[in-house]
Amino acid sequence: MRTQETNILAKRLSRLGLARQLLFGALLLVLSALTVLTAFGIAPGTAASDLQLTVVREPIELPELLPLPATPLRFTTQERVMRGDTVAALFERLGVRDPKAMDFLRADSTGRMIFRQLVPGRALQAETGGDGELLTLRYCLSATSLLEVNRGAAGFTSRARAVAEAPRVFYRTATIRSSLFAATDAAGIPDAIAMQLARVFATDIDFHTELRKGDRLAVAYEMIYDSGELVAAGRILAAEFVNDGRTYHAVLFRDDQGGEAYYSLGGNNRAKAFLRSPVEFSRVSSGFGGRFHPIFKNWRAHTGVDFAAPRGTRVIASADGTVVSAGMRGGYGNAVEVRHGGSITTLYAHLSGFAKGIRAGARVRQGEPIGYVGSTGYATGPHLHYEFKISGMHQNPLRVALPKAEPVPAHLKTRFLQVASEARATIARVASASAARFE
Ligand SMILES: [Zn+2]
Repeated sequence: MRTQETNILAKRLSRLGLARQLLFGALLLVLSALTVLTAFGIAPGTAASDLQLTVVREPIELPELLPLPATPLRFTTQERVMRGDTVAALFERLGVRDPKAMDFLRADSTGRMIFRQLVPGRALQAETGGDGELLTLRYCLSATSLLEVNRGAAGFTSRARAVAEAPRVFYRTATIRSSLFAATDAAGIPDAIAMQLARVFATDIDFHTELRKGDRLAVAYEMIYDSGELVAAGRILAAEFVNDGRTYHAVLFRDDQGGEAYYSLGGNNRAKAFLRSPVEFSRVSSGFGGRFHPIFKNWRAHTGVDFAAPRGTRVIASADGTVVSAGMRGGYGNAVEVRHGGSITTLYAHLSGFAKGIRAGARVRQGEPIGYVGSTGYATGPHLHYEFKISGMHQNPLRVALPKAEPVPAHLKTRFLQVASEARATIARVASASAARFE
């Protein structure tokens, strides 16, 4: 069937003159480029990457034949503030490349609030154009108030206003058949929540390689509405993930300092463990399937795990730490080494480049981008070489028994267990309601 179609296409093309062939080819390229851009553009939490730029560049050889897109490109992305975050780092993750927008925020008395109120866990949503220019920015100052920045003909405007409604809580379940995003799409779970799920469970599950057909999830999450209109995805309140027969839980708990973190039902802080994969999981990267599989070479000779991944994929810190070195390092090429607690260090090699602000002495947070997959140094193709050392001794990060996560402080344990048991009951109710419907 496909061969036949190709032949028909070829015959049609041969009947056309050279100029028309070029026009037809250019249109095909433009159409396919737009399709790709649209597909990527609607995924919150993914920045416009080098991959997309490469696709768009192709038709530029024939500029006079390019039809303009009917509507300007708009990308909506959403990120959550992490501990120690900066507005610049958030802009980078959101794919906002707009120095004028940053200048406006600094100078504007309302816009400036964002610098003073970067509270971990809060949502920041951006709409950007094709070149990363900021069109709209929405920051939840709280669950009840919103900072909004809009680009107009006369420049940027800002306003802070109350969110009229309390967040609505949604309960959903999903079963993995092919990928996390296919499952969350089918269940009507927004991308921002799917990304949060992948982050919350990333210390137990490598979402690139360890998902199994039949894995199940149940999740309770907030959505923030304003005058009946959805403003942003809120927080995951509780979730359960059954991966390869093992069940993991995450419960959002606020400590007495106002800090929020996800804990297991037993009270272990999930974020205090190491990520299973230092390659960022996103809708884009999740489409590469087997290409992310870690490659084991002769372990003793090799001392690291290689993660095959497309050039430009973001490499993230597997735990909180301090950068020991970032730069060219012989056969490692561009490499970043990070020191964590408990005499553990991690090394990320063959990078094509470093993330902004990554230099010796810089503090990094778990999941924070530190560089991009490349093939600098002794590398035959783009991949991430990842090393994990305890007291200077190389360990296999996928097999080593990792340090225990820090639990809920003792004086909050009673209150936590109450929250956790309510969360567990809610999740069980959601899961059994959906089982009754589908089985
Ligand atoms: Zn390697």
